Amino acid sequence: MLEGKTFYIHTFGCQMNVNDSEHLASLLLAEGASPASRLEESDFILINTCAVREKSVEKLFSYLGRLKEYKEKRKAVIVCLGCVAQLYRQELLKKFPYLDLVVGPHQYAAVPSLLKNLAEERKILTAWKRGWTDLPILPESRESRVSAYVTIMEGCNNFCSFCVVPFVRGREKYRPLRSILDEVRALADRGYLEIHLLGQNVNSYRDPESGTRLPELLEKVSSIPGIEWVRFLTSHPKDFGPELVEAMASIPKVCHQLHLPLQSGSDRILALMNRKYTREEYLEKIESLKSRMPDISLSTDIIVGFPTETEDDFQQTIEMVEKIKFTSIFSFRYSPRPRTAASRLKDDVPEEVKIDRLIRLQSRQKEIQLELHRQLVGQKMNVLCSGPSKKGNLHAGRNEAYQVINFYSPVDVSNRLVTVRITGYGPYSLQGELED
Ligand code: SF4
Repeated sequence: MLEGKTFYIHTFGCQMNVNDSEHLASLLLAEGASPASRLEESDFILINTCAVREKSVEKLFSYLGRLKEYKEKRKAVIVCLGCVAQLYRQELLKKFPYLDLVVGPHQYAAVPSLLKNLAEERKILTAWKRGWTDLPILPESRESRVSAYVTIMEGCNNFCSFCVVPFVRGREKYRPLRSILDEVRALADRGYLEIHLLGQNVNSYRDPESGTRLPELLEKVSSIPGIEWVRFLTSHPKDFGPELVEAMASIPKVCHQLHLPLQSGSDRILALMNRKYTREEYLEKIESLKSRMPDISLSTDIIVGFPTETEDDFQQTIEMVEKIKFTSIFSFRYSPRPRTAASRLKDDVPEEVKIDRLIRLQSRQKEIQLELHRQLVGQKMNVLCSGPSKKGNLHAGRNEAYQVINFYSPVDVSNRLVTVRITGYGPYSLQGELED
């Protein structure tokens, strides 16, 4: 047991990592350890890492550099987990000799026993698992009381040429349907209203026991009493078929909101990225979604400055952004990742050109968001309130379109689904008032 011990988890990266950290917290709570509110007070410092972009690895290295003093002062045990641990292994121990453990994403279950039996010798545990491993999750380890992440698959078989995920998370593994539904039922019993079904490539979900695919899974999750909103991410455009469009349009509790990574608007760059769709095919998917759900909210990922990207390629990306009018975009400068096919191409777009393209893309998107937000003023919409806003004396939440809304309410409406009238807007959020 780890009774009397405290732990602190710092998470880098996406929702998958947040959910992995919640699992990790569950494992430690089950062994009697308790969470520390501050890193300075913890016996175990666990850092869950993201390797998707060079910048996130640089941020991690700077964070790990600052942990040296805690090792010296408090003799804390420091564990580096997740994708960077899987990718860099020995290199991490060389660079940060005060790390005690380096644990890959398939080895989280081993963490409590590793902490109980810390050997003199520092350990690296990065073996891959081929099948799905169910990890329990305790209610008190979730960040939100009303919205929950539920992982349905892990890994990816797609090998986009820029992406490190298949090398750190391995091939696709699907969680059994019964295990997913058990978790969602337990969440509904505890009052959770919103479920995010997660995976690197959720469109390819297939129940290993019955073969059930994502559209049917959405139906089953939505029919669990108490669940009000169901979302899923991340989708790959090439696998996004008509059955899924139909499921989104016809199942009332599936939100009309979708994150569909575009990455580039140029066919030449899409081919170099090994994305396996063209801009026309992407636009056809968007058309079929918009024709069935005119109110659909779309977001995307875009990389600028991929090797050989010209100004003309970049303009094609801008054209797509202007045509589709995404509710939000996550845009990044290309950086080569170890072991990927693209890392063998010459990273030939100068850094200042990448920065310039990123700024131009983001400022065009900002204008689009302002215009989309302006059109919402005066409308009433359902908002799932997550609690007090960081901005002044307001509440914060998200609507079905997953837009951030800060709103005034005379009473505490945290963790409730409420109706809000939109009264104002900025480029990245909306403002409103609670409707009676
Ligand atoms: S589909 Fe997504 S996770 Fe898979 S290789 Fe491509 S970018 Fe990476």
